[in-house]
Amino acid sequence: MRLVLLGPPGAGKGTQSARLVAKYAIPQLSTGDMLRAAVEARTPIGLQAKEIMDSGALVPDEVVVGIIGQRIREKDAARGFILDGFPRTVAQARALDDLLQSEGQRLDAVIELSVDENALLARMQKRVAETIANGGSVRADDNPQAFKTRLDAYRCQTAPVSHYYADKGELKQVDGMKPVDVVSSAIDAALSSGDRKAVG
Ligand code: ADP
Ligand code: ADP
Repeated sequence: MRLVLLGPPGAGKGTQSARLVAKYAIPQLSTGDMLRAAVEARTPIGLQAKEIMDSGALVPDEVVVGIIGQRIREKDAARGFILDGFPRTVAQARALDDLLQSEGQRLDAVIELSVDENALLARMQKRVAETIANGGSVRADDNPQAFKTRLDAYRCQTAPVSHYYADKGELKQVDGMKPVDVVSSAIDAALSSGDRKAVG
């Protein structure tokens, strides 16, 4: 199963990915998580990405395409993967097509979690509260200022990715405003339906 999860920041991509990992026994490849690990480890990529990420803007395409290109060739991704937060630009989507083609692979599904923009700030605040309750450290970009920039980046750079996949007939939309379990069921339904219609 090779899957892309699309959706604005706070849509529930990470939440649903964790469930899909358990269900399909394939890894979640989150470029956000990988970049945060690089920042933490102060690798050259991390040093380059930190300021951009803190501001809420997107890091350059070639950086994330490079990371994903390496990652999908690792052994644990041979049976499939869930891409969470990648691709985020049309250039990344095209690069992913090329990468998969060179590996003789293709995507099984692209699922977009649709969420009202008005609900997203509250979701971000919920994530901050959960992180603090679990004793974790709050993401540097989970603040109102960076969140606004992230939403702008989503609107301008990532929304066209949905159109890219819709034009290819590959996009399935799921209502991300529903409770977590209902969203999971709608994703399951979308994955098991052969057609390309909206579900949930
Ligand atoms: P993303 O990875 O898309 O940025 P997350 O999965 O981290 O989003 O979810 C952001 C916040 O919203 C988290 O606090 C999560 O618990 C919460 N959340 C996720 N899905 C739902 C949902 N369907 N309904 C209500 N809250 C949700
Ligand atoms: P969210 O879960 O809120 O959608 P992510 O954890 O996926 O956010 O991403 C956090 C930040 O990491 C982004 O704001 C951006 O700076 C960077 N990033 C992650 N994935 C990509 C990508 N595919 N292209 C460019 N920048 C990315």
